[in-house]
Amino acid sequence: MNSQLLEKSTEDSKKRLASLVKEGQKVSGLHLEKIPVKGYEQVMKVTDKKSGLTAIIAIHDTTLGPALGGIRIQPYASFNDALEDALRLSKGMTYKSAVAEVGFGGGKSVILADPKTQKTPEMLLAFGEAVEKLGGVYICAEDMGCTTEDVKIVRRATRHVVGLPHAKSSGDPGPFTAWGTFRGIQSVAKKLYGSESLEGKSVAVQGLGNVGSVLVEFLFWAGAKLILSDIDAAKLQKFAAKYNAKTVPVDKILETECDILAPCAFGGIINDKTIPLFRCRGIAGSANNQLLRDSHANALRDKGILYAPDFVINAGGLLNVACELEDGGYIPTLPRYKVHHIYDTLLAIYEIAEKNRESTHTAALSLADYRIKYSIGKRVIPPTYHHSAD
Ligand code: NAD
Repeated sequence: MNSQLLEKSTEDSKKRLASLVKEGQKVSGLHLEKIPVKGYEQVMKVTDKKSGLTAIIAIHDTTLGPALGGIRIQPYASFNDALEDALRLSKGMTYKSAVAEVGFGGGKSVILADPKTQKTPEMLLAFGEAVEKLGGVYICAEDMGCTTEDVKIVRRATRHVVGLPHAKSSGDPGPFTAWGTFRGIQSVAKKLYGSESLEGKSVAVQGLGNVGSVLVEFLFWAGAKLILSDIDAAKLQKFAAKYNAKTVPVDKILETECDILAPCAFGGIINDKTIPLFRCRGIAGSANNQLLRDSHANALRDKGILYAPDFVINAGGLLNVACELEDGGYIPTLPRYKVHHIYDTLLAIYEIAEKNRESTHTAALSLADYRIKYSIGKRVIPPTYHHSAD
């Protein structure tokens, strides 16, 4: 089995892959089984005995366009855990896409396998065949456990993929997500202090990865006082020196006194334990699923903390990759314009929340529901794929 691992892919495995995808040759004996789930358009259990593939493709809603969402490869404890994850993530994509007005619906897929030890080209090809069978109603991309190289293999069986490197590719989403997050932080400043200026405002950033590292540069030039934290001590010191920033230990960042806290590392950081500790006026960061539960948004509101809903503020990467499927191909100035206006969307959400006396999270969900109900932002031109199968 070890010789089959993608991570250790050798020339041999590349040759094997090439022979597997000879024109017209199907590698799998696929089985697609519908799982009826209330509120979801299509949920499929995908199995292929030959390659050992077990996957779930969840299509939550395609009112506004084909469902777009990544392929997560993870060794789930059970099939039910995987199903729950696929359902939660695909629904999240519906809301994210609706608010961002990208003309896509919400979908997600999960492959039940350890990406380090169980992922094989055969499995990915079989998965690609399943996506192809759905006829374009689901468009996939990379996600946790799934690399660009893996998506390239999926592409051999279906053209319904995005985010591959090619002449008209959208490239690294990080800087686009970072700019959207920066604009979101400005929207919080505007709402709290009457001006979007970040001059002299203290911003605590948790996580200096693809997004956080670019965000801190934008914040630096905007005159913010930076407080940084990362588990990677060398990286933390590098950025602290570069931007004359304060540093705090990883277990103290959430309780640091600051104007705005920007979580840019991982989800679930807004919960029963952390809410009493927060000493910030606003929370605006790129991390996905920041609220452990939806109700935690109400607790933030009760505490007087303004929260920029994660699925709105972090849509820059989605806006960027979605432009890849434009008729004329990807032009970076198009997502730049759209990402810039995340600021306005957030200000509108704060206003709705205030009027309805509800949390900003609830207001953002209502905005998404409204757009879906009245088909606002519905795609009129089908997506155009500009990549080849090579
Ligand atoms: P990344 O993996 O590149 O960076 C995460 C950073 O957080 C790393 O530097 C890591 O060392 C640090 N980190 C991990 N645990 C930490 C801890 N306990 N305290 C402080 N730092 C810690 O990820 P990314 O691409 O920068 O994404 C960051 C977040 O934004 C994730 O939640 C991701 O899902 C979300 N997001 C990213 C994008 C994108 O375009 N990359 C788009 C939307 C949402």
